[in-house]
Amino acid sequence: MRTAVYFCSCGTNISEKIDPERIARELGGEPTVAYVRNVEYLCSEEGKEFLEADLRENRPDRAIVAACSPRDYESAFMQCLGRAGMNPYFLQMVNIREQVAWVTPDPCQAAEKACRMIRAAVARVQLHAPLERTELDVCTDVVVIGAGPAGLKAALALAEGGRKVTVVEKTPVLGGMPMRYGDLFPNLECSPCLLEPVLAEVMHGPHAERIELLTLSEVVEVTGYYGNFTVKVQQTPRYVDVDRCIGCGYCIPPCPATTPNEFNYGLDERKAISYPFSGVLPNAPFLDLQACLRGRGEDCRLCQAACPVEGAVCFNDREKTLERQAGALVVAIGAGLYDCGALPSLGHGRIPGVYTSLEFERILADNGPTHGQVSISGGTPQSVAIMHCAGSLDPHHRPYCSGICCQYAFKFNHLLESKRPGARVLHLYKELVMPGKEAYALYQRARDNPHATFVRYGDIGDVEVSADNGQILIRYPSDSGRAAAAVDMLVLCPPVVPNEGASRLAALLDAPCDEFGFFEELNGRLAFAESKMKGIYLAGACQSPTDVQRAAGQGMAAAAGILAGLVPGRKLQVEPITAWTDEEKCSGCRLCAAVCPYKAIGFEPQRRASKVNPLLCHGCGTCVATCPAGAMQGNHFSNAQIFAEIEAILQ
Ligand SMILES: Cc1cc2nc3c(=O)[nH]c(=O)nc-3n(C[C@H](O)[C@H](O)[C@H](O)COP(=O)(O)OP(=O)(O)OC[C@H]3O[C@@H](n4cnc5c(N)ncnc54)[C@H](O)[C@@H]3O)c2cc1C
Repeated sequence: MRTAVYFCSCGTNISEKIDPERIARELGGEPTVAYVRNVEYLCSEEGKEFLEADLRENRPDRAIVAACSPRDYESAFMQCLGRAGMNPYFLQMVNIREQVAWVTPDPCQAAEKACRMIRAAVARVQLHAPLERTELDVCTDVVVIGAGPAGLKAALALAEGGRKVTVVEKTPVLGGMPMRYGDLFPNLECSPCLLEPVLAEVMHGPHAERIELLTLSEVVEVTGYYGNFTVKVQQTPRYVDVDRCIGCGYCIPPCPATTPNEFNYGLDERKAISYPFSGVLPNAPFLDLQACLRGRGEDCRLCQAACPVEGAVCFNDREKTLERQAGALVVAIGAGLYDCGALPSLGHGRIPGVYTSLEFERILADNGPTHGQVSISGGTPQSVAIMHCAGSLDPHHRPYCSGICCQYAFKFNHLLESKRPGARVLHLYKELVMPGKEAYALYQRARDNPHATFVRYGDIGDVEVSADNGQILIRYPSDSGRAAAAVDMLVLCPPVVPNEGASRLAALLDAPCDEFGFFEELNGRLAFAESKMKGIYLAGACQSPTDVQRAAGQGMAAAAGILAGLVPGRKLQVEPITAWTDEEKCSGCRLCAAVCPYKAIGFEPQRRASKVNPLLCHGCGTCVATCPAGAMQGNHFSNAQIFAEIEAILQ
């Protein structure tokens, strides 16, 4: 077998440490080396043209490029091989720049080391198999799970890009958490007004015909893989036909059944047929059969009788299971708040007037349970304490900072100032975090409030909250021992945590979660819109605590990844550097599947053997190293290839 060696001088980067003449002398005489060429800049256009022409003319069986890191130029050199009529996988690169020239001061040792590494590559490349990329037809439709800012922005961008999108939203309404807030940090814009144009575009805009909106729906089964998923969605009946309903709300007042309103965190009640709160979209109520008298066997029809539109209230609506094909899914299910029940000394649920930040958002919102009035049972609060970091930065609860709480706490400060002028605001905090270019202004505004006080506390375990004569007494450690403050209201800002359904959905999608239960990104820096499961994209608070700006941006990033990867009329290229199973050797222990970080390995019960899905496999080799029977093999990284390389380097 004839192997050509191309030595790149990289200007003087390599040649000033490793003498090309010596390399040519030492390797030129080896039986498997056909020739050694010294090129000044192989990565330049001229260098690549030379490589291609030289390969075409001399027709070696294998090629070695001794140059820089394969991460930089391997793909470009493989393309040269391909254009020269060779199998691109007959190339082996040797990194003699970073691994030799830059780190080996002695030129003699450097040349010796480079020779050994090139010899090892020559030994290995003899065993390279002619691998081929395969192609697969793909579906370019997308399912987006969650209709908050992240999901909606993803859906819009995808539809604008010509893709058909199905948005699956668990609740009866669109818009996600910000629909529940009155105002948004950093600029205190009206939150529903900010979202409304996005919702209008999703529902009625120029690309709306490509967006299917499924409310009261959840994904219950996903099969297939990137490019070819089948997604089953279960839709709970709304009992109100969204297309017929004119949103007059006449059906609501006659309804005799009430239930705590979960959209207001149980701070008020709603009717069995109701809107979660006013101003929501779609502008149609939903009927909650669990609360409705009909759910208890009674034939109540008062809502239907009050409805001016024939057929808008439809009791014969049934649960549906829908099936959609999709090339990719976007997970955008948002996040929740840490359960304050785990912080019993803070009094939430036990002492009247102690609220979580989400409950307080609803109190501040005009469409909330108090219509935006900040009030307590005894009248109007004259003092409000806001406890930042309630369970954050704490190894016993959540060790991280959610990065948004201080900002919404200062938003609360401002809103209290305008709704309750003169009310005292006490900020109890562990750390203050104001990232970005806009957050500090809000903090400064809170600092300028003459009625605001800032107190730093150490450990949340040392903070105690009790009821005291109609007030709330907060005892906390201070420099002089212990201090106390009596307030009328206490707002807790607990850490942002994964949504309650996140782990179930993650299991369904085979997409791993991180140590805190958030969906884990393929790479937190450069591939944050992708999960470790190919074809499952991530956006918004389901992957990490975030603000609306970032959530929307992540939605766009996920859409961009999908638009670039799944193009109508273009087949998906499947990389051949993947693992595969030698069924003869496989004992069916499935250790390979357990260690695979990309969920690429399934099991064939009839053959009692593992099976690798090449579309999902990233060729990392974890399964190969783990398999106790040596049944898992890695294309392009076979044991024979690796051992040949090791043996040659040690000779
Ligand atoms: C108290 C508080 C105040 C905040 N104030 C601000 C602020 O002023 N400014 C700001 O920029 N950010 C603020 N944030 C952050 C903001 O809420 C988030 O950045 C934003 O909601 C994230 O958007 P999202 O689309 O990722 O998730 P969400 O807005 O939570 O939307 C997720 C959607 O997915 C749906 N869903 C959940 N599970 C499923 C499922 N299994 N299947 C289908 N659908 C599902 C949900 O019903 C929801 O509609 C605040 C956060 C908190 C906790």
